[in-house]
Formats: sequence, structure tokens, C-alpha cells
Amino acid sequence: MRTSAAPELVDKTTGGIVVLGGDHVVIRRRRQDWQQIVRIGRSACDQCSYCTELCPRYLLGHPIEPHRAMRSLEFNLVGEANVVGTSYCCECNLCSLYSCPEDLDPKNVCTQNKRRLAAEKSTWDDPPFNPDRPDVHLNNRRAPMIKLMQKLGLTGFVNVGPLDGKLLAADRVGIKLKQHVGAPCEPTVAVGDTVKLGQPIGTPPTHDGKPALGAPVHASIDGRIASIEDGVIWIER
Ligand code: SF4
Ligand code: SF4
Repeated sequence: MRTSAAPELVDKTTGGIVVLGGDHVVIRRRRQDWQQIVRIGRSACDQCSYCTELCPRYLLGHPIEPHRAMRSLEFNLVGEANVVGTSYCCECNLCSLYSCPEDLDPKNVCTQNKRRLAAEKSTWDDPPFNPDRPDVHLNNRRAPMIKLMQKLGLTGFVNVGPLDGKLLAADRVGIKLKQHVGAPCEPTVAVGDTVKLGQPIGTPPTHDGKPALGAPVHASIDGRIASIEDGVIWIER
């Protein structure tokens, strides 16, 4: 979800776009800063553990327990201990936007910790995995879609369809060099080059002679390479 005024680009991972007002609950949650998250979380978390009991990664058997990450706030331990298993957080946001009855933000506490662990190159040898948990809980703890939409204030957004398949004629497009997990592509074109629709304009890099995980990117219009900056190739007709 984007809240900035900077131009945003549609890429291959964009599933849909919902435009929300600045006072919408989802936007207000998004705009909370880290200090607010810590202050409120530290004082209001009652350790009910709903965030853990409904966490999809926990339910699959992984050793992530977001309520423990919240508990660590009280001891200023965020980022200090791998025992909370935050590296296993997939950042689905279910705990923050659905599970927590106090509207706290365990997802951001987990991801803050996860990023710090990654920056420190901390790894967890032989992490515990509970293979029995999926059988016991996975199927009866799924969040119902309608409840999720109600909690997020999204039930008023009705898809009236049908899809209009009309193509929009663009005079200028930006193609992101990183559109998915894996390595960002490296440009195979230069500013001023002429390109054709469908032409490859970036490919994944190679490391030690082997191609990195990734997929090439292509021009979506005929045009000229206007600039290559901030990970985006801009093409103009
Ligand atoms: S669900 Fe909310 S209140 Fe309960 S443990 Fe998790 S963060 Fe704390
Ligand atoms: S955001 Fe992370 S901790 Fe929260 S429910 Fe999703 S996977 Fe679990």
C-alpha cells in the first residue's frame, strides 16, 4: 500500500488498486510512526496471544509468535533476540489489521525485528518446526473474508464490473527493474536508444557466471529511452 504523493508504477505484482481517503482507518494505521507503535504497544498489549493464534505462519508450524515480539517491547528487546522467530513473518498484516482486539501493530514489531536481524546477518541454526500444528488448527482458524473486509472498512467498495478491456495509449511509461523477489535487473539499453514494444530492456545479473534469480523486463510501448534512474527505465514515444 502506498501513501506517498510520489508517482507509483504498476508492475507485475500489482493485483488491484483501491483509492482510500486520508481519514480511512487503513491509511491512519499505515501512517502511524514507529515511536507511536512502540509506545501504544508497550502500554496496551495484554498478551492475549490472538495475534499468534491466528498467524498463518504460526499455524503452518513455523516458530513465529508475534505476541512474544510484542512482549519484547516491554523490555526494549526488539531486535535483540531471535527467539521470537520474527524472521518467519511473511508480513501479511493479519495480526495488526484483523487479529488484535486492541488494534495494536504486532506486524510492524515483527518486521522491525526481522529487518534488524537480516542487517546483522543473524541466522537461526535448526529452528524448531511443529508439524502437528497444521492438522490441529490450520483449517478452523482461517479469517473469513467478509469479517476481514468489515474490520478494514472495505465493504463499501463494490466492484461493479464488468472489466473494461480497453487499452490505454500511454506516451510515457516507467518500467521497474525490480518487480518481484530476486535480484533487480540490469538495463540492457542506454538513454537515447530506440526500443520496440516487447523488446527486452533489462535482464537479471550474473554472479560467478551463474544467472541470479529473476526475470527480464520488456518495453511496453514503442519509443525512446528517456532516462534510467532510481531503478526505473523511462520510455517516451
Ligand atoms: S493480539 Fe494484540 S493485545 Fe493480544 S497479544 Fe497480540 S498484540 Fe497483544
Ligand atoms: S504479519 Fe507476520 S506475525 Fe503477523 S500474522 Fe502475518 S505472518 Fe504472522
